Amino acid sequence: KGPVVIVGAGHAGFQLAASLRQAGFADPIHLINDESHLPYQRPPLSKAYLKGTGGPETLMFRPQKFYADQSIDLVYDRVISVQRDARKVLLASGKALDYGHLVLATGARNRLLDIPNASLPAVRYLRILDDSEALRTLLGDARRVVVIGAGFIGLEFAATARIKGLEVDVLELGTRVMARAVTAEISDYFQKQHADAGVRIHLGVQATSIEADGNKVTGVSLSDGRHIPADLIVVGVGVLPNVELAAEAGLQVGAGIVVDEYLLTGDPHISAIGDCALFSSQRFGGTLRLESVQNATDHARCVAARLTGDAKPYDGQPWFWSDQANDKLQIAGLTTGYDQVVLRGDPAQKAFSAFCYKEGRLVGIESVNKAGDHMFGRKLLGAGGTIDADKAADPSFDLKSALA
Ligand code: FAD
Repeated sequence: KGPVVIVGAGHAGFQLAASLRQAGFADPIHLINDESHLPYQRPPLSKAYLKGTGGPETLMFRPQKFYADQSIDLVYDRVISVQRDARKVLLASGKALDYGHLVLATGARNRLLDIPNASLPAVRYLRILDDSEALRTLLGDARRVVVIGAGFIGLEFAATARIKGLEVDVLELGTRVMARAVTAEISDYFQKQHADAGVRIHLGVQATSIEADGNKVTGVSLSDGRHIPADLIVVGVGVLPNVELAAEAGLQVGAGIVVDEYLLTGDPHISAIGDCALFSSQRFGGTLRLESVQNATDHARCVAARLTGDAKPYDGQPWFWSDQANDKLQIAGLTTGYDQVVLRGDPAQKAFSAFCYKEGRLVGIESVNKAGDHMFGRKLLGAGGTIDADKAADPSFDLKSALA
């Protein structure tokens, strides 16, 4: 009981505040926001927002009035330390706030490139609204961009830059694009689509230095000795979870802030949710840290339920999406650790799904422009079901009958 203090007003923090009020939580809620905007959606930053002309208001979850109406105290400040004995957080402004329960929803930050000239102004990252705003302007002035990292964000940016008429080169250390996240079938499809659109993808190479003339970026040198000219560099080489606040407070951290299946840290008054949380999962039998809107918002709902008297282990079913030029990738389930992949549909038709199996059971479905397969996957996996691989691969088999 007592006030809930939420550190971070991203997808997880915002959802927690909203869900607490929805569930009738009546004590004070302090939502600490260290960005200068009302809480907003991140996915469009590398998609529609980057492409479009809409203002920041198009990204906001809710207008200012919502926070006043719901008695959510939105505090523009940063938490600099947690005093667990006194159940207090200290803010950068010098203020302190008491908590009955503290929720760390600190998210993740970009992994920075550590090569010569990487801090020049034309070397950019994409995580926050201000990054996307700056890139919109830079896209208007630049002619050649090198994207470092062929993950979701790098490829979404590359597709947009190409649509805007820039010369685009993408550098990737791995042997295929999005290798950590999707099957080879999906990587191959997207690699071809980007190449057909004129994006040059270079695999198995590393950027070794940014070349510059004074402060002006002129290109990138590669590990294989090549040099690619560029006037803008966009880096998407992954993120690091923001665990420092938790670690300094003596909480256990590893590849994230360690929480149990209820999303509680070792301190019964402190939870952690979203991108920063390394959580125990009964469903997947181990610990996981996921970076997705689904994970952030479902974590938030789980903790809101617990704090209003309905404690249950977290059991969210992962799903994700990425928009790259005209293609929509949707992923249901966790497609890691699979040992068999069957395709449903034909990549040449630009609409198909990869059904992933582990020891004969479906673990996930990656769909390209196949929203129906994706929704089927979410329903089936959510209910703990599976479908035989030969049926999945047969386009005449009605998937709905597997849900019955
Ligand atoms: P965040 O949204 O990162 O929010 C954490 C907040 O906490 C930040 O505002 C941070 O500044 C703040 N904070 C940190 N420390 C403190 C402190 N000490 N005091 C106060 N505030 C603090 N996911 C999808 O599912 N689909 C997509 O298509 C997709 N596209 C994406 C595109 C981009 C460009 C990016 C960056 C992410 C995308 N994601 C996507 C991932 C998704 O946005 C994240 O998983 C989600 O935002 C995680 O929510 P979160 O609240 O845990 O963290």
